[in-house]
Amino acid sequence: MLPTNLTKAELERYSRQILLLGGDAQRRLKNAHVLVVGAGGLGATTLPLLAASGVGCIEIFDGDAIETSNLGRQWIYSDDAVGKNKASEARAFLQSINPHIEVIAHDSMFEAGNFSSLEKITLVCEGSDNLASKFAVNDLALRAKVPAVISSLAAAQGHTMLVNGVENACYRCVFDEVDQSSLPSCAGEGILTTFVGFIAAHAAHTAITQIITTDREAGFWVFEKNHCRSVRIKRRIDCIHHNIP
Ligand SMILES: [Zn+2]
Repeated sequence: MLPTNLTKAELERYSRQILLLGGDAQRRLKNAHVLVVGAGGLGATTLPLLAASGVGCIEIFDGDAIETSNLGRQWIYSDDAVGKNKASEARAFLQSINPHIEVIAHDSMFEAGNFSSLEKITLVCEGSDNLASKFAVNDLALRAKVPAVISSLAAAQGHTMLVNGVENACYRCVFDEVDQSSLPSCAGEGILTTFVGFIAAHAAHTAITQIITTDREAGFWVFEKNHCRSVRIKRRIDCIHHNIP
């Protein structure tokens, strides 16, 4: 039995989820502190799903301002929010759909240097468009033994990876030699709104499932147009980032 109790209002709000998973799973979600890096295309769908599911504390990093070209897929932002910071506006939206949770917003980009410890963090969701940020989250998560769900997409392809423990493959095992400048971008190639939502919802589902089960499985999922497939990735033996003292 977990220590945090659910209030009467929470028991009713999450009743269908509790019916399926049980009260302990819902308390595990309430006790969770999830760090979300990026409140853009992916974060704008991952964040409300985490909030509606009952994740007790959500901490958001995003230094970008909302642009009109974001509104077509970053559906948590309104026309009035153009020019405002994404993390702050995302916080306001999450609090409006679930007043039972805590949301912390940082109007800056995530950098390992200004967030060196994941001591209080249950899980990290990385959904920025920056490869350096994904590597920083990967390395911190391995060091802190905290699971990380890292997602990326452009045009008609995307992926989600659950990095989970030094014994399993990490994000660098797959992408360490990729150069950011060689990658396609949503701004350059275009993107379908529902395709972003498809991957972002999968990232949220992977995060919620991991918080509930706390197992040590890892995973890699590839998305292409209308389908998703799971790919088995082995830890690369020459990947030095698993060698945590
Ligand atoms: Zn690795």
